[in-house]
Amino acid sequence: MTETALIPAYARLPIAFEKGEGVHLYDTDGKKYIDALSGIGVCGLGHCHPAVSAAVQHQVTQLVHTSNIYNIPLQEKLGQQLAALSGMKNCFFSNSGAEANEAAIKIARLYGHKKNIESPAIIVMEGAFHGRTLATLSATSNRKVQAGFEPLVSGFIRAPFNDIEALQTIAKNNQSVVAVFLEPIQGEGGINLANDDYLKQVREICDQNQWLMMLDEIQTGNGRTGKYFCYQHSDILPDVVTTAKGLANGIPIGVCMAANQAAELIQPGNHGSTYGGNPLACAAAIAVLDTLQKESLFERAEALGIRIRDGLEKSLGKKPYCSDIRGKGLMIGVELSKPCTQLIGIAAEQGLLLNVTAERVIRLLPPLILSDAEADELVAKLSEIVINFVEES
Ligand code: PLP
Repeated sequence: MTETALIPAYARLPIAFEKGEGVHLYDTDGKKYIDALSGIGVCGLGHCHPAVSAAVQHQVTQLVHTSNIYNIPLQEKLGQQLAALSGMKNCFFSNSGAEANEAAIKIARLYGHKKNIESPAIIVMEGAFHGRTLATLSATSNRKVQAGFEPLVSGFIRAPFNDIEALQTIAKNNQSVVAVFLEPIQGEGGINLANDDYLKQVREICDQNQWLMMLDEIQTGNGRTGKYFCYQHSDILPDVVTTAKGLANGIPIGVCMAANQAAELIQPGNHGSTYGGNPLACAAAIAVLDTLQKESLFERAEALGIRIRDGLEKSLGKKPYCSDIRGKGLMIGVELSKPCTQLIGIAAEQGLLLNVTAERVIRLLPPLILSDAEADELVAKLSEIVINFVEES
C-alpha cells in the first residue's frame, strides 16, 4: 500500500487546518495562525465571513446546480453586478483562473480568425503567470511550469514587461498579432507592478494596431489593490479581463469579461463549461460583491496597504538586505537580497502564513477585513521573523 492516495503534485507543509475565522486559521492541534496569504489571494473577506456563509447555506437548501443549457438567474444577476462595477459588457463564467484565461485566449483567436489571420499570435510578458492548463502554461513565462509538458501551445510571443518600445517593435515586424495579454501586477512573478503609464500606453498601442487588450486580474481583481479591478487605477478599459480567486471567497468560480468587439465573438457552441457559474458559486460571489461594497473594502484595502507598507518600511526599509518593499493595496512584496523560500516554513512555525515568490520576494495577500491592530501585529511579527532569519543565520 502506498503512503498516500494523492498524486504528489504539491510540496506541502506538514500542517492541516481545521477552522478559520476572519484573518485567523486554527490547525488540528488548535494552534492559531495569522493568515497573511488568504489561500493565495482567495479569501479576501477572511475565513468564513458570515455574509458568504449565510448565502451559501441558503443556496444549498434551494438549488446547487442545473446546467448552462438553462437560464440561471443568479448568473445573470452576478454578470450585471460585475458589469456595473467594471465597465465591461458581458461575462463567461468558469470554475478557476486558468479556465477564465482559456476563454480569453479563445476570444483572441476568434478575433484573429475573424480578421482572416490564419495563425493569430498573442503577446505575453516575461515574468507572467497565467495558469497550469496547456494553453495557460504556454502563456506563462516560467520554464519550470512548462518543463516536461512540451509540445507547448503555439501562438504566444514573449515581450519584456513594462517595455512599451518592445511592443512597438513587435507591431512593426509581426502582422499576426491579435492581442496583448498581461497582469497589471505580476503576482507569481514577484509582485512586479506595471509602471504608472504603462497600461495606458498598452491601451494606445492596442488601439493603433487593432489588437485586443486583455488583462489577467485573477489575483489583482476583487478589490485587492484598492479598486474592484487594478486597471481602474489607470483610467482605461481593457477589451477582455479575467478574474477568479477572491470572486467568491473560496467557492470555485472564475470569469472572463469582455467589452467592445470582444464581447460579440463567442457564440452558442463556441465555448462552454458544465459547472461554470452554477447557482451555488454565483450566490457566494454575489454575497462577496455586496459585502465588498457595504463594508467599503476597496478603500480599506488601499488604506491597509499603505499602513502595512509604511510599517514594514520603518522596521525593514533601511536594512541592507531588504532590497525593496512594494505593492498596491493588499498585494505586497518584500524583496530580500538573498533567497528566502525557507521563510514560508519558519513563519508558519511562528504562527504566520505567508508565501515567497521568485525565490526572494515575500508575498503578502492578507484579507481585506483586517483591523488596524491585526495589520500592525502582522507587520511586527513579519519584521521580527525576517530580522531573525537574516541576522541570525
Ligand atoms: N493567473 C494569475 C495571475 C494567477 O495568479 C493564477 C493563480 O495563481 C492563475 C492565473 C491561475 O488560476 P487558477 O489556479 O485558479 O487556475
